[in-house]
Amino acid sequence: MKVNQFVIIGLGRFGSSLGTELMRLGNEVLGVDRDEEKVQDLSHILTHAVVADATEEEVLRSIGARNFDCGIVAIGDDVQASILATILLKDLGVKKVVAKAVSDLHGRVLERIGVDRIIYPERDMGIRVAHQLVSPNLLDYIELSQQYTIAELAVPQCLSGKSLDDVNPRGRFGCSIVAINKPKGIIIAPVAKDVLTIDDVMVVIGTNVQIEQFQDSIRQ
Ligand code: ATP
Repeated sequence: MKVNQFVIIGLGRFGSSLGTELMRLGNEVLGVDRDEEKVQDLSHILTHAVVADATEEEVLRSIGARNFDCGIVAIGDDVQASILATILLKDLGVKKVVAKAVSDLHGRVLERIGVDRIIYPERDMGIRVAHQLVSPNLLDYIELSQQYTIAELAVPQCLSGKSLDDVNPRGRFGCSIVAINKPKGIIIAPVAKDVLTIDDVMVVIGTNVQIEQFQDSIRQ
């Protein structure tokens, strides 16, 4: 996989977790925070970490911010600093700018200044956890559009030992199993005779309604 270079502004809980995971996935990350302690904590984890005020244009210029593939503004509480840092990254020509918003208004301002992606960590995680709590088999999901979703569903006991032909979610509900993640490896585009077992994860694509109906049918 291509190594991407990220610059993260703000190494609070969100910024540090994001940076640590991007490193684990084999990318290069420069972390920037005005708090020396935060920078020190992450200096051995990130490629580089520097103490700086990201609302100063000269600072972002001197760290070569414009050369990064993606800039992430992970400042929350100080909305003014978040907006200034975001505008500066955009003006410096960072290819993709992602920013964290703490409220709808904050998000609307970020949208107006042309942020490529806005993240609402608390709101989005709340929605995600709610879905998982009401659907015990749902491990994760991606919304492809308002109507379509890809969901990862744990195989329950009632499906263990059954083939896709037996389960037949496409015929019964209209959604399709496009992959089966087994402990030994993933089967992409499984065929009718492939058998599910309790440790497997099904990757299902369909409308929200179709996937909900399938989940209801396997709820135990
Ligand atoms: P989290 O929930 O991720 O911990 P938060 O929403 O509480 O973060 P803040 O505490 O406002 O957000 O900011 C996260 C980090 O951003 C902090 O470590 C803070 O020192 C840093 N930060 C804030 N303003 C600036 C700035 N102008 N330049 C560099 N870093 C900044």
